[in-house]
Amino acid sequence: MKSFISHLECPKCNSVYDSDQINQLCVCGAPLLVRYDLRKARVQWSRNELSTRGKTLWRYREILPVCGEENIVSLGEGMTPLLRLERLGTETGLRNLYLKDEGVIPTGTFKARGAAVGVSKAKELGVKEFGMPTNGNAGSAWALYAAKAGIKANIVMPKGAPFITKIECAVSGANLRLVNGLISDAGKIVGRGVAKYGWYDASTLKEPYRIEGKKTMGLEITEQFDWKVPDVILYPTGGGVGIIGIYKALLELREMGWIGEKLPRLVAVQSAGCAPIVRAWQEGRVDSEFWTDGKTVAFGILVPKAFGDFLVLEAVYKTNGCAIAVEDADILKSQAQIAASEGAFICPEGAALLAAVLKLKEQGWVSPEERIVLLNTGCGVKYPDTVTLDVPTLEPESEL
Ligand SMILES: *Cc1c(COP(=O)(O)O)cnc(C)c1O
Ligand SMILES: [Zn+2]
Repeated sequence: MKSFISHLECPKCNSVYDSDQINQLCVCGAPLLVRYDLRKARVQWSRNELSTRGKTLWRYREILPVCGEENIVSLGEGMTPLLRLERLGTETGLRNLYLKDEGVIPTGTFKARGAAVGVSKAKELGVKEFGMPTNGNAGSAWALYAAKAGIKANIVMPKGAPFITKIECAVSGANLRLVNGLISDAGKIVGRGVAKYGWYDASTLKEPYRIEGKKTMGLEITEQFDWKVPDVILYPTGGGVGIIGIYKALLELREMGWIGEKLPRLVAVQSAGCAPIVRAWQEGRVDSEFWTDGKTVAFGILVPKAFGDFLVLEAVYKTNGCAIAVEDADILKSQAQIAASEGAFICPEGAALLAAVLKLKEQGWVSPEERIVLLNTGCGVKYPDTVTLDVPTLEPESEL
C-alpha cells in the first residue's frame, strides 16, 4: 500500500506540519490541508491501475492520507452511482442532468467518506477517543466507523437533529449528548470537552483528514465521466467540507495531469433560511458572517457560520461558480419530483439542488446542453418527516 502523503499545510499562512503526528489547527487558527507529492504521483502512478481495483474510495489510496493498510476502517464506502436523470432532464429542459447518489453509501450519507478516512487516519495516529459536534449525519457516521475501529466517540448534537441520527449514535455505543441549541453551541461544548479530557478534536475541519475522504466524490465523478469533467457541479453546502474536498480533488487531478485545465463551475447551494455563504458571495466577500436564527428542513446545511467558509468561497470564485439559496417549500417540492420522476428518494439537502438548478436555468446561468451534476448527499429515508403521508386506510373487506 502506497500513499504519496507528504505533509500538512496551512492554506492561510502556508505553515507546514508533520502528518505523522496529531495536528489539529495551524497556530494561526486556520484548518490544515493534506499535501501529497503529486510530482512523484504523476510519474509513479497511472489511472490505468484503477481498473483492477475494488469499487470503494480506497481505490484512490495513493492520494489518501492513510499509510498502513491495517489501519483502514471500511464498511464498503464509495463508488456510488452517477445516474442520468433522463425524465427530469426532459421535464426541465436540461438534457444532461446527472445525480451522484450518496444515498446508497454506508450510514446513508456521504459523511461515511469523511468518517472512513478520518477514523482510519485517527487509528493510524493512535487516537483512542475523540469529541465531535454534529448536525446528526456526521456524528452517526463517525460513531459507527469508530465502533468498527474500537475508538471511543463523544458526540454532541442539537436536540432538533434528525431522530435516526441519534439512534445510530446510541446503538453504536457512542457517548451521545443533545444540546438545546445549534451546532455552533454543540461545538462550544465539545471544545470544552477537548480541553478538559484531551480528546482528539474531530470537529469539522479541526482535523485535516475527513476532507480527504470527501474529496473522493470529486475523484469518482471525474472517473465516472471517463476523466472528462462535467460543466457544473451543484453541492448542498453547510460546513462546506464536501465542496472544498471536490475542489481539492480537481486541483490534484489537474496537477497529476489526469484532467485538463478546465474545471467544472462549483455551485454552493443553501437554504434561504440559513444562507451565510450565499450572502457572502453576493457581497463579493472572502468569508461569511454568522447567520442568526437559521432555520430549514435541510438540517445538514443548517450551519450559521462555516469554519472553512473562506475555502468554500475560494472554490466558488476560482471555478467561476456561484452560490444560490432556495426556499424550503421548493426543496420539498423538488424532493417529491425527483422521487416521482426518477425513483430516487433523496434527502432535502440533495433536493435543494434541483430547486437551485431550475433557478439557474431561468437566470441563464446554465444552458440546456451543459453536463450538470447534482450531488445528492444522502438518502431520504433519514428524514421521514419531510413527507406527509395522506392516504386512505381500508377495512379488510373494502373494495378499491
Ligand atoms: C453534512 C451534510 C451536508 C453538508 O455538508 P458539508 O460538506 O459539510 O457542507 C449536506 N447534506 C447532508 C445530508 C449532510 O449530512
Ligand atoms: Zn496558518
